Amino acid sequence: TLTTRFAPSPTGYLHVGGARTALYSWLFAKKNGGDFVLRIEDTDLERSTQASVDAIMDGMNWLKLDWNLGPFYQTKRFDRYKEVIQQLLDNGHAYRCYCTPEEVELMREEQRAKGEKPRYNGMWRERTDYPADKPYVIRFKNPLDGSVIIEDLVKGNIEISNKELDDLIIARSDGSPTYNLTVVVDDWDMKITHVIRGDDHVNNTPRQINILKALGAPLPKYAHIPMILGDDGKRLSKRHGAVGVMQYRDDGYLPEALLNYLVRLGWSHGDQEIFSRDEMIELFDLSGCNRAPSAFNTEKLIWVNQHYMKSLDPEYVASHLQWHMDEQGINTDNGPALSEVVKVQADRVKTLKEMAQISRYFYEEYQEFDEKAAKKHLRGVAKEPLKLVKTKLAAISEWTPENIQAAINGTADELEVGMGKVGMPLRVAATGGGNSPSLDVTLALLAPAQVVSRIEKAIA
Ligand code: GLU
Repeated sequence: TLTTRFAPSPTGYLHVGGARTALYSWLFAKKNGGDFVLRIEDTDLERSTQASVDAIMDGMNWLKLDWNLGPFYQTKRFDRYKEVIQQLLDNGHAYRCYCTPEEVELMREEQRAKGEKPRYNGMWRERTDYPADKPYVIRFKNPLDGSVIIEDLVKGNIEISNKELDDLIIARSDGSPTYNLTVVVDDWDMKITHVIRGDDHVNNTPRQINILKALGAPLPKYAHIPMILGDDGKRLSKRHGAVGVMQYRDDGYLPEALLNYLVRLGWSHGDQEIFSRDEMIELFDLSGCNRAPSAFNTEKLIWVNQHYMKSLDPEYVASHLQWHMDEQGINTDNGPALSEVVKVQADRVKTLKEMAQISRYFYEEYQEFDEKAAKKHLRGVAKEPLKLVKTKLAAISEWTPENIQAAINGTADELEVGMGKVGMPLRVAATGGGNSPSLDVTLALLAPAQVVSRIEKAIA
């Protein structure tokens, strides 16, 4: 079976770059009817936390990137890594190195002085005169000549001469395995056929391939995805703003929007911008991935978010809006169905957070008027139209947008003033501010008695 994996190190939240790697791996597996493994690379005991594991899984769940194998934890697999390290020692593909850190540093200094690239010189490669009771590390015996070719499915062929690779430490002096060893053992045991990951790992790949070959393990195919950059051309980081997936939820983006944005950030299919989940699965291919890094563009993410707020089922959008209403302490038990609010507000905002902010008046009495709006529209002259429109609104027997509009029009006609002279004071009275969807639908979502009492408050 075709099998991909996402292998985060749990040392923080799920970064958008990680989420995109997970998405591509997930899509590739789905598209090909394969398996998708979640592997937690938690061997760095100092930096790995359960909170981070939870945060990563929360992010994946929110984006609905479901894994069907795992989660596997590397810390539970130390026995297996030991076994493989022993196998490499037994087969002569690894050896003990008794160099002290000082000796290694000295070696490097000498090489630097000669203008050479610092690398371990293999001095323990053939030695067997092991000193007793001295600490040692275990190094992989990298081939001395020839080269490694990565047939990268995104970047094309990459050839690295073995002369550039030194003998990598695969076990530290306390016996613990190092990153490249654990990845290799896991990719092998978990039968990973396609390694899709960030191209910050491309330098590890030739080393991993050499170890796999030494073990007689099948080689997976590799696809290295270029980094995501910030607007200044530097690798995307906290300095640029939000980078954690759940921060995007908090900021008011729909998971569909972030997912759609991320699939396009580094992959294209003609000039199509909007992809449903099914379309992504159908159309995604590694050959459509960019070879160059992509820059994160918040304006575009907002555009995609607006598209989904307007076009997804309002009931569904409302389920996400509900979270933001709760977050902002707005009790929606009494008032219009939230899906009705979505319908009138979706094209007025950039995010769900904003939608919640501007929808408070549907559920709560406003505490005070927006100062500017009140100053402009609620001065003495506004009282007359407000009084008359209140009477007309109170007399409506069927509370519909049409009847509400007729009451407003009737007031303007009777007083021989423009619509704005009625509408604006009424808007400020009913919502507390000068911005709302068109008045007929806005008032229709409020209860008649509520509207009347708010007008009374404005006249008082
Ligand atoms: N654990 C590595 C990371 O989070 C990924 C390893 C891999 O994909 O091979 O960067």
